[in-house]
Amino acid sequence: MMGDWAWRRAFLVQWLLMKAVRYYGPGQPFRLEERDRRKPEAGEVLVQVTASGMCHTELHFKSGLLDLGVAPVTMGHEVVGRIESVGEDVSPDRVGERVVVYYYLGCLRCAYCRVGNEHLCPNLRAEYGFISDGGYAEYMTVPARNAVPLPSSISDVEAAPIGCGVTTAVHAAKLAESKVDEWVVVYGIGGVGFGLIQLASAIGARTIAVSRSVAKLNKARELGAEFAVNATEVPTAEKIREITEGAGADVIFECVGTEESMKEASVALGRRGRLVFIGYSPDSFTIHPIQLVVLEQKVLGSVGATLNELYEAVNLVERGVVRTIVDRALPLEQFESGLSALERGELVGRAVLVPSE
Ligand SMILES: [Zn+2]
Ligand SMILES: [Zn+2]
Repeated sequence: MMGDWAWRRAFLVQWLLMKAVRYYGPGQPFRLEERDRRKPEAGEVLVQVTASGMCHTELHFKSGLLDLGVAPVTMGHEVVGRIESVGEDVSPDRVGERVVVYYYLGCLRCAYCRVGNEHLCPNLRAEYGFISDGGYAEYMTVPARNAVPLPSSISDVEAAPIGCGVTTAVHAAKLAESKVDEWVVVYGIGGVGFGLIQLASAIGARTIAVSRSVAKLNKARELGAEFAVNATEVPTAEKIREITEGAGADVIFECVGTEESMKEASVALGRRGRLVFIGYSPDSFTIHPIQLVVLEQKVLGSVGATLNELYEAVNLVERGVVRTIVDRALPLEQFESGLSALERGELVGRAVLVPSE
């Protein structure tokens, strides 16, 4: 029979505590801890997390490249789950609903928020998995509006990459304004890259996938990439010039951001080309302005997505326009193995943590 203390602990774990993977500052290992579950306040919902995608951003936190100055904080911004309970002012009908989380909460008053560009809000009230507790946990509390309904045709694990991977691709694709018949290069094939390849193909652009991994290139071809360039075998820019018959690319999505990839991308960019930065590393980007002037090129950055773009991303996956790619699902306790596989570039698609079934 359980002793009094053990019984009490079991009760607490079941009703009040949860496991969570937390960031403790640059260069420090993440820690698996037992935490209080935060009860939903007015306008909020408590989500039982069933799938939580692992994004490259977590590696940037770990290495210290991305330091937002908030620690400790629970990682995870690609979150799917089931609404367990609701706070005041939220319809109890939502209990049991399957949802994917929108990870920004802007001030909802500034000029960016007013037109829906909440991801650019200078006064964010929360950014889950960045400066606010995210979904590498059994439970997560978010405003009801941030819990976006998921159709039953998409499984939890399959849905996890929608929260960041697919939404980031949707947002970047819009900024790039790629058109029918244009040459679109996706440089670096991860959670975002797979989405970009499919979106570019869907609008009738001609797609070139670039990666150092044969497995990722094969998957990109399977998803509609017209050409696959192995960056370990050929000078990438030269190959892109050859494929485009000298013209160069109209759009390059830079999902790697190393000195080498940025150099190749800028050389491969054609007239009126748009070089869109999504990924980054410690390296800086250099370009002579004469190239931008003479070829009327644009260099831009793309971060996150709007709430509406999350709705669009869910819709794209539901309609089969975009397929999410999941390499493996892991229990929360095995987050380290997921992170190291991601770091080694072994994953073809996402590793998804499954905190609770
Ligand atoms: Zn992400
Ligand atoms: Zn705002």
